[in-house]
Amino acid sequence: MAKAKNNNKNNADICKTCNAPCCRDITMLITKPRSKADVNELTQYLHFDTARVFIRNNKWYLTFDGKCIYLSKNNLCKKYTKRPARCRRHTPPDCERFADFYDVLFSTPEEFEDYLSKIKL
Ligand code: SF4
Ligand code: SF4
Repeated sequence: MAKAKNNNKNNADICKTCNAPCCRDITMLITKPRSKADVNELTQYLHFDTARVFIRNNKWYLTFDGKCIYLSKNNLCKKYTKRPARCRRHTPPDCERFADFYDVLFSTPEEFEDYLSKIKL
Protein backbone atom coordinates (compact mmCIF):
# COMPACT_ATOMS: atom_id res chain seq x y z
CA MET A 1 0.00 0.00 0.00
CA ALA A 2 1.11 3.56 -0.41
CA LYS A 3 0.64 6.85 1.32
CA ALA A 4 -1.19 9.39 -0.73
CA LYS A 5 -2.45 12.87 -0.36
CA ASN A 6 -4.70 14.12 -3.10
CA ASN A 7 -5.92 17.60 -3.93
CA ASN A 8 -8.63 17.34 -1.36
CA LYS A 9 -7.32 19.42 1.53
CA ASN A 10 -9.33 17.45 4.02
CA ASN A 11 -7.71 14.20 2.88
CA ALA A 12 -4.25 15.76 2.97
CA ASP A 13 -4.86 16.89 6.54
CA ILE A 14 -5.99 13.40 7.47
CA CYS A 15 -2.78 11.90 6.06
CA LYS A 16 -0.63 14.43 7.90
CA THR A 17 -1.94 13.13 11.21
CA CYS A 18 -1.44 9.48 10.32
CA ASN A 19 1.56 7.24 10.97
CA ALA A 20 1.27 6.04 7.36
CA PRO A 21 0.66 2.32 7.60
CA CYS A 22 0.11 2.43 3.83
CA CYS A 23 3.82 3.25 3.30
CA ARG A 24 4.92 0.33 5.44
CA ASP A 25 4.11 -2.57 3.18
CA ILE A 26 4.19 -3.47 -0.48
CA THR A 27 1.17 -5.18 -1.98
CA MET A 28 0.83 -7.05 -5.27
CA LEU A 29 -2.25 -8.32 -7.04
CA ILE A 30 -1.88 -12.07 -7.61
CA THR A 31 -3.83 -14.71 -9.47
CA LYS A 32 -6.30 -16.67 -7.42
CA PRO A 33 -4.75 -20.11 -6.79
CA ARG A 34 -6.38 -22.78 -8.95
CA SER A 35 -4.07 -25.78 -8.72
CA LYS A 36 -2.16 -27.67 -6.06
CA ALA A 37 1.02 -26.11 -7.43
CA ASP A 38 -0.47 -22.60 -6.96
CA VAL A 39 -1.48 -23.44 -3.41
CA ASN A 40 1.97 -24.84 -2.63
CA GLU A 41 3.60 -21.68 -3.92
CA LEU A 42 1.42 -19.36 -1.85
CA THR A 43 1.93 -21.57 1.18
CA GLN A 44 5.67 -21.24 0.76
CA TYR A 45 5.41 -17.43 0.60
CA LEU A 46 3.68 -17.58 3.97
CA HIS A 47 6.77 -19.18 5.53
CA PHE A 48 8.26 -15.68 5.55
CA ASP A 49 7.54 -13.69 8.66
CA THR A 50 6.28 -10.48 7.02
CA ALA A 51 4.39 -12.11 4.14
CA ARG A 52 0.62 -12.17 4.16
CA VAL A 53 -1.96 -13.13 1.58
CA PHE A 54 -5.36 -11.49 1.60
CA ILE A 55 -8.58 -11.45 -0.39
CA ARG A 56 -10.54 -8.28 -0.98
CA ASN A 57 -13.57 -8.01 -3.26
CA ASN A 58 -12.72 -11.46 -4.65
CA LYS A 59 -9.23 -10.36 -5.69
CA TRP A 60 -6.14 -11.98 -4.20
CA TYR A 61 -3.09 -10.05 -3.00
CA LEU A 62 0.35 -10.78 -1.61
CA THR A 63 1.79 -8.23 0.80
CA PHE A 64 5.11 -7.85 2.62
CA ASP A 65 5.90 -5.45 5.44
CA GLY A 66 8.71 -3.01 4.73
CA LYS A 67 8.99 0.76 5.05
CA CYS A 68 9.26 2.84 1.89
CA ILE A 69 12.67 4.51 1.76
CA TYR A 70 10.97 7.84 0.99
CA LEU A 71 8.91 7.93 4.18
CA SER A 72 10.31 10.60 6.48
CA LYS A 73 10.76 10.32 10.23
CA ASN A 74 7.61 12.39 10.69
CA ASN A 75 5.64 10.05 8.43
CA LEU A 76 5.49 12.29 5.39
CA CYS A 77 6.48 11.46 1.82
CA LYS A 78 9.89 12.87 0.84
CA LYS A 79 9.03 12.72 -2.85
CA TYR A 80 5.44 13.80 -2.55
CA THR A 81 5.22 15.67 -5.86
CA LYS A 82 6.83 12.74 -7.71
CA ARG A 83 5.19 9.90 -5.84
CA PRO A 84 4.04 6.93 -7.93
CA ALA A 85 0.54 6.65 -9.36
CA ARG A 86 -0.41 3.90 -6.94
CA CYS A 87 0.43 6.21 -4.04
CA ARG A 88 -1.75 8.95 -5.56
CA ARG A 89 -4.67 6.56 -5.91
CA HIS A 90 -4.53 5.47 -2.28
CA THR A 91 -6.54 8.01 -0.31
CA PRO A 92 -8.65 8.20 2.83
CA PRO A 93 -11.21 7.16 3.81
CA ASP A 94 -10.72 4.07 1.62
CA CYS A 95 -7.50 3.08 3.35
CA GLU A 96 -6.27 0.93 6.18
CA ARG A 97 -6.44 3.73 8.73
CA PHE A 98 -10.22 3.58 8.65
CA ALA A 99 -11.06 -0.01 7.86
CA ASP A 100 -9.62 -3.43 7.31
CA PHE A 101 -8.06 -3.64 3.86
CA TYR A 102 -9.07 -7.26 3.51
CA ASP A 103 -12.06 -9.57 3.65
CA VAL A 104 -9.89 -12.56 4.56
CA LEU A 105 -6.25 -12.50 5.65
CA PHE A 106 -3.70 -15.31 6.01
CA SER A 107 -0.47 -14.74 7.93
CA THR A 108 0.66 -18.33 8.23
CA PRO A 109 0.50 -21.55 6.18
CA GLU A 110 -1.83 -22.99 8.85
CA GLU A 111 -4.36 -20.17 8.46
CA PHE A 112 -4.30 -20.62 4.70
CA GLU A 113 -4.69 -24.39 5.02
CA ASP A 114 -7.62 -23.94 7.39
CA TYR A 115 -9.34 -21.58 4.92
CA LEU A 116 -8.80 -23.99 2.02
CA SER A 117 -10.34 -26.82 3.99
CA LYS A 118 -13.61 -24.86 4.15
CA ILE A 119 -13.95 -23.63 0.58
CA LYS A 120 -13.73 -24.87 -2.99
CA LEU A 121 -11.23 -23.05 -5.17
S1 SF4 B 1 6.63 7.15 -2.38
FE1 SF4 B 1 5.81 8.40 -0.74
S2 SF4 B 1 3.60 8.02 -0.73
FE2 SF4 B 1 4.58 6.38 -1.91
S3 SF4 B 1 4.96 4.72 -0.42
FE3 SF4 B 1 6.80 5.98 -0.49
S4 SF4 B 1 6.55 7.47 1.15
FE4 SF4 B 1 4.55 6.58 0.72
S1 SF4 C 1 -3.30 5.13 5.83
FE1 SF4 C 1 -4.80 6.46 4.86
S2 SF4 C 1 -4.84 8.30 6.15
FE2 SF4 C 1 -2.95 7.19 6.61
S3 SF4 C 1 -1.40 8.13 5.29
FE3 SF4 C 1 -2.23 6.32 4.23
S4 SF4 C 1 -3.88 7.11 2.93
FE4 SF4 C 1 -3.41 8.70 4.46
